[in-house]
Amino acid sequence: MVLRTRLHLPRDQFPAKPWAIETRAYFGNHVQESETVFALANGYLGLRASHEEDHPVVEPGTYLNGFHELRQIVYGESAYGFAKTGQTMLNCPDGKIIKTYVDGEPFDIDSGELASYRRRLDMQRGFQRRQVVWVTPTGKRVDLRTTRLVSMAHRHLACLHLELTVEDADADIVFSSELRHRREFGEDDRDAEDPRMGAIPEAAVLQPAGHWAHDWRSVLSYRTTRSGLVLACGMDHEIKSESDVTVDTDQTDDVGRVVFRLRARAGEPIHLTKYLAYHYNAARPAEDLRAQVGWTLDAARSAGYEELLSRQEKAAADFWEHADVVLEGDPETQQVVRWNLFQLLQASACVDGNGIGARGLTGKTYEGHYFWDTEIYVLPFLIYTNPRVARAVLKFRYDKLDKARERAHELGHRGALFPWRTINGEEASAYYAAGTAQYHINADIMYAMRKYVDATGDVGFLDDFGAEMLVETARLWVDLGYYNPRRGGKFCITGVTGPDEYTAVVNNNYFTNIMARQNLNYAARTLRELAKRNERAYAHVVRTTDLQEPEIDDWLRAAGSIFLPYDEERGVHAQDDAFLDKDVWDFAETPADNYPLLLYYHPLNLYRHQVIKQADTLLALFLLGKEFSVEEKRRNFDYYDPLTTHDSSLSVCIQSIIANEIGYTDKALEYFRFAATMDLSDVGGNVRHGAHIASIGGSWMALVYGFGGMRDYAGQLSFEPRVPDVWERLTFHVTVRGNRLRVGAATDTTTYDLLEGDELTFTHCETAVTLSSDKPSTTLPNRAVGA
Ligand code: BGC
Repeated sequence: MVLRTRLHLPRDQFPAKPWAIETRAYFGNHVQESETVFALANGYLGLRASHEEDHPVVEPGTYLNGFHELRQIVYGESAYGFAKTGQTMLNCPDGKIIKTYVDGEPFDIDSGELASYRRRLDMQRGFQRRQVVWVTPTGKRVDLRTTRLVSMAHRHLACLHLELTVEDADADIVFSSELRHRREFGEDDRDAEDPRMGAIPEAAVLQPAGHWAHDWRSVLSYRTTRSGLVLACGMDHEIKSESDVTVDTDQTDDVGRVVFRLRARAGEPIHLTKYLAYHYNAARPAEDLRAQVGWTLDAARSAGYEELLSRQEKAAADFWEHADVVLEGDPETQQVVRWNLFQLLQASACVDGNGIGARGLTGKTYEGHYFWDTEIYVLPFLIYTNPRVARAVLKFRYDKLDKARERAHELGHRGALFPWRTINGEEASAYYAAGTAQYHINADIMYAMRKYVDATGDVGFLDDFGAEMLVETARLWVDLGYYNPRRGGKFCITGVTGPDEYTAVVNNNYFTNIMARQNLNYAARTLRELAKRNERAYAHVVRTTDLQEPEIDDWLRAAGSIFLPYDEERGVHAQDDAFLDKDVWDFAETPADNYPLLLYYHPLNLYRHQVIKQADTLLALFLLGKEFSVEEKRRNFDYYDPLTTHDSSLSVCIQSIIANEIGYTDKALEYFRFAATMDLSDVGGNVRHGAHIASIGGSWMALVYGFGGMRDYAGQLSFEPRVPDVWERLTFHVTVRGNRLRVGAATDTTTYDLLEGDELTFTHCETAVTLSSDKPSTTLPNRAVGA
């Protein structure tokens, strides 16, 4: 096991505030990292945190979830069924820019004298603020404060507010507010070899589709070349000042610009508000979208900055009420945990109609693609804190079911095969061995859906969408596997890749097989129940999928005889048929600088060794934990943990949970801290390209499932808290079938409060507990750790 060095935030510059990330100095060498850390998003629109003055700026992304261009994937040697068309999330016109000139001198933090600098991401209230005192070359002190928000209440809208005061003199002020389509922006040399960065599509440049400007408003529109999407974006302004203001508006295909000129009086603040709106669509003409942008701007102006701010605060408060996790006694981790939760909000709040990208909307690593990260790492959090959004994310998968059917057909399978990575529902993985071969994606989606239905009781989702997905995914497994006489007639699944991408195209990956079994059993049970519970819905599914009754028996038969590789000698589940026969990677001789291994070794070198990128068998032992004893988990952990590099950010969080369960408390804590600080300590050295959303979701799981000891097998909720004494108390919230529960776990006791809902039953350390509106609270002793 190799854990890379974590950077500790310099506490004099980054105080451990419970509700904010605040920097009290400007770090010129961390511009790109800050663009991620202070980024704002709402699941639809994302703004990286480039400064308004647009300098220095490295990766000034503005992203719209799902807004992408297509590109042809070029292979040196192609083969049948390789994904042909890649998809890349596009950088949209940047509306964050407000250049400020004082007596003709451009405000720029890299030049001139910076008397003070403070930037604050206010997670409690959902916005970002910066306060700078800058001394102009002629010695005037300028106090500049900006507030920025990406609205959680109106997903197409962002708002910037700027307050400028020349403290000690009068001065001529110019604000040049821009909406700029950057035809290209900096690629970082450091990343040229990093496969995670993805290709820039040759057709990435948006084609102008008309623009208009009047008064203080400018609207631009574009069309993508290949994906057929149309984008319109616009800005509008308000200014408040005692002085007269001259305004000029001009525009080209690439830039809208509104320039304000005025005289600032010493000590008198000037307020400039900028509203930004973004809409895109596949079906509408550009003219309609420009009109929509206009209406969004109208609505924003009539609400006004203060009102938008207060709506934002309300949305953020609502989020925290349902999702906050409090760690008493550890202010530094508390801050990190809140930042992580805030990222989950930002990645998902207004996601409807789209998936959640591997970096949310904070960066373009992996081209904005959606992976299994969403279902296995993010959905548990959403299911228990915002079931409406969880449903929307699952519905998005259903919307792409036809594409998954086509893909299965293309590969010669029955049923449906969901893409390993995608934006538009089509497979976009150019490396099939670590992409398309990860068939487990099907079972992952069905696993998450089951968790959603169990936790919410929303069987209607199954009736309308889920049952159909279950039929097609179950079919795929039955088609993919076969009864192998050499394995005693067991049902084997060959030629697949499990979660560990350092081992590829194997037979009987344990994780895949056991997750497929769960998928098959759940499909059979759901369909049989549906036939009894809702005849009409059942008839509909039969019609749309052409389901034949005997197929259900086939699913059960395959599930009942699935082959699960086991090594008697070691007493562990073998990761796959061949894994344990391979030579163990020489960790002792691997220089610390050679991690992640994927950047330094050919895949074949990795594939022929026992070396693991991320939790694989151990992940199965967590997801389907009820099927394994603690002793079994310990033996598997002892075997696999030393082989795991955690080169993927999706790993440590899971191993922390298992470590907790088997009593390895120190390791659980170490892994948790590692997962939780993945971004703020820049563990992977790539936070500059965006936040690791799966790891962030995983760190919530490490708290709730790990230290909180929550389990939710088949809708049965249980808790077995194990809170280390470095924390006074761990408090979290989960909403189950409309009941909102607060769990406050200390080392010795746990208090449960039913905050909303009529009645909830669960177990605490195997003791049954029922809370109701009559008896909403109880405090119970924990089981001693190790008992
Ligand atoms: C991991 C995958 C993950 C992807 C996107 C890869 O490095 O191995 O499991 O889905 O990153 O986060």
